[in-house]
Amino acid sequence: MTGGGQAALALAELRRAAAGCTDCELYREGTQTVFGEGPAAARILLVGEQPGDREDREGHPFVGPAGRILDRALDRASIDRDAVYVTNAVKHFHNEPRGKKRIHRKPNLSHIRACEHWLRSELEVVRPEVVVALGATAVQALLPRDVRVTADRGRILPSELGPPVLVTVHPSSILRTADEDRAAAMRAFVRDLAILTRPVGATSGGHAGS
Ligand code: SF4
Repeated sequence: MTGGGQAALALAELRRAAAGCTDCELYREGTQTVFGEGPAAARILLVGEQPGDREDREGHPFVGPAGRILDRALDRASIDRDAVYVTNAVKHFHNEPRGKKRIHRKPNLSHIRACEHWLRSELEVVRPEVVVALGATAVQALLPRDVRVTADRGRILPSELGPPVLVTVHPSSILRTADEDRAAAMRAFVRDLAILTRPVGATSGGHAGS
């Protein structure tokens, strides 16, 4: 079997094992574990926060409104969506039921740490050239404590988890941006992602556009 075939099998095994994970209390809140998806030999691995309402029901990452923003931004940055692996730092939907709705709650550090071994396993199997931290929770999972999305977006930083990590916003932040500022927020997100179309070494530690 080819190396790529073995990696795809290893991911399938991880996905099966994660489906029964009870390592933190979030397994009681979410409908199911939402594991990462994408080619086992992807050059780029994107990490978000956690599945949202739609992802939780469908069992796939980035299929809701934030996923549509991500798809559009990748397309504008000339990055093939089908060639990237997408996952989340936390693989169950942390939420609070309110009437018929389920309100998103930000995962805390104990959830991130409990779930980290799944992310590490995905990184070990996929072995991407570069990882993208989409928003603060992914930054917390992948990078030292002093890294901030606002100060460090557009930079590629070393991570003890392995490959270097590009810092940027979570696509849901663009949905929350006021109408008059949304186009500029989208342009800035696309600009961050477009860094990935250059050789990684050329931008390591540097700011976007510098
Ligand atoms: S959030 Fe992660 S660690 Fe917690 S139960 Fe789900 S898969 Fe396991």
